[in-house]
Amino acid sequence: AMRAPTGKVEARVEVPRSSAEVVIEATGVSKSFSGHMALHPTDLEVRRGEVVVVLGPSGSGKSTLLRTLNWIEAADDGDVWIEGKSLAWTEGRNGRRRRPEREIDRIRQRIGMVFQNFALFPTYTARQNVALGLMRLRGVKRAEALSRADDLLARVSLGDKTEAFPIELSGGQRQRVAIARAMSMEPVALLFDEPTSALDPETVGEVLTSMTDLAKAGATMVIVTHELGFAKKAADRIVFMEDGHKIMDLPVDRAFAPDAPPRFRAFLELVD
Ligand code: ADP
Ligand code: MG
Repeated sequence: AMRAPTGKVEARVEVPRSSAEVVIEATGVSKSFSGHMALHPTDLEVRRGEVVVVLGPSGSGKSTLLRTLNWIEAADDGDVWIEGKSLAWTEGRNGRRRRPEREIDRIRQRIGMVFQNFALFPTYTARQNVALGLMRLRGVKRAEALSRADDLLARVSLGDKTEAFPIELSGGQRQRVAIARAMSMEPVALLFDEPTSALDPETVGEVLTSMTDLAKAGATMVIVTHELGFAKKAADRIVFMEDGHKIMDLPVDRAFAPDAPPRFRAFLELVD
């Protein structure tokens, strides 16, 4: 497949990464909204088992970058490959053409997403919420889907809440149901956009613990968050966004070292 040229990014700091297989590769993805460049051409590579934490001030393009990774937000330019499949283009009989939406849908199902505002179905129990995708999108039989849902809920420490309705759960518990639901499709990677920002402070920790458990179990994750403690503990890599540019992409130990890029150091001082 053809690859879009990658735009020049000022002051980008980047080092080579592990040799594991690349599961998500974004090249030169950019996006503007009514003339405003929300995301300048950006490259991002996510390898199997990696945990990439995306940090940056509000409005710096973190969500836009995350949303282009599974093409919820189709990039204006550039492309994203999920397990080697281009989301922008497909080879037709007459050469390259835009990939049809239904094909994008299918590829997109390989990526799980967890948002700030978890949208669980209010009339379904936790296990039904988790089982639904398996039944509807995968054709898994009901009993099997419910049993898998129970296993997934146990993994996020909700084994005792399988029959609870969303309204009976705390924000943190609901978000963990959303994580179990995202995992139910056995995605190659999970994307999180500020998964704890809308939660009461006392339930933030339990969600971060579930995410740390997933990371330890080898899940591939890209996480936009402001939780620096979590980032230091769970991330393999830190990406730093500013004004729609990815200006840093470093292993976590180098990102939090005294010789990290000054603009990132300044950001850390502001949020700490
Ligand atoms: P972050 O997640 O880092 O806060 P975003 O990616 O949401 O940043 O936004 C980057 C910029 O793009 C901001 O200026 C924001 O206002 C703008 N933006 C994002 N989404 C939209 C949209 N759907 N319509 C118009 N502007 C948007
Ligand atoms: Mg955002």
